[in-house]
Amino acid sequence: MKQRSTQVLKVDSVRKDYGAMTACCDVSLSLRRGEVLGVVGESGSGKSTLLKCLAGAERPSSGTIHISSEGEMVDLWAMDEALREQFLPSAISLIHQNPRDGIRLNVSAGGNIAEPLLVNGERYYGTLRDTSLEWLERVNIDADRIEDLPRTFSGGMQQRLQIARGLATHPRLVLMDEPTGGLDVSVQAKLLDLIRKLVREMGIAAIVVTHDIGVARLLADRLMVMQRGRVIEEGLTDQVLDDPHHPYTQLLVSSVLQA
Ligand code: ADP
Ligand code: MG
Repeated sequence: MKQRSTQVLKVDSVRKDYGAMTACCDVSLSLRRGEVLGVVGESGSGKSTLLKCLAGAERPSSGTIHISSEGEMVDLWAMDEALREQFLPSAISLIHQNPRDGIRLNVSAGGNIAEPLLVNGERYYGTLRDTSLEWLERVNIDADRIEDLPRTFSGGMQQRLQIARGLATHPRLVLMDEPTGGLDVSVQAKLLDLIRKLVREMGIAAIVVTHDIGVARLLADRLMVMQRGRVIEEGLTDQVLDDPHHPYTQLLVSSVLQA
């Protein structure tokens, strides 16, 4: 019973076709509370498509996605559409590679954090403001920037704001698509540390899509390697990276070592 109650996500044989193009195929996985799964693979291997299916943004062509809801696993795509739209913002957060896709540039920093809380039913102004302040602090943005518009922020700050906005609602599942992809290397390292700390502290289940093995090694407990829409290797991160079995994974790992 205990095992069942900590399960957050169960994906069975998900496939997504775009016309004749199969973007991902036969993907199955399961994720528990506090677990971070890395998804690696070259561009075009189906990583983002998989995340979009999990985020409720793209309906799979076949297969099922179950997500925990009040102790039960519910079938995301079998839900009534209105119910799904209500369920999604409280259960799942998607962190985009480009912060501008995940925050609103013309809404204050505090407003960006408060908005999803409002959507989830929080109406008390004091709580919204306190939670916004608390989250600005957690992502190292000065409290006196609370009224500022994020268009004046650096890329790293915008990304930290997106993370605050995504986590403040305490989602069960966080999906990150190349969360540090567009940033300078020095900014990336700090952001990765921050993500790791928050995900650990909150015991959140997370999926991190990346083409960067270094990011996967730092964040992920387990790793799934995708090629041409299929999962070709999976296992504990250290095992997969230190002793890759599939030739493609061996190539991925060795190309990083030579870089
Ligand atoms: P990745 O994120 O690993 O780079 P994607 O999931 O974005 O890969 O894409 C996987 C494949 O599906 C690619 O060949 C891509 O061109 C195709 N694809 C993705 N989205 C669409 C779409 N909306 N319409 C048609 N083809 C798509
Ligand atoms: Mg992608």
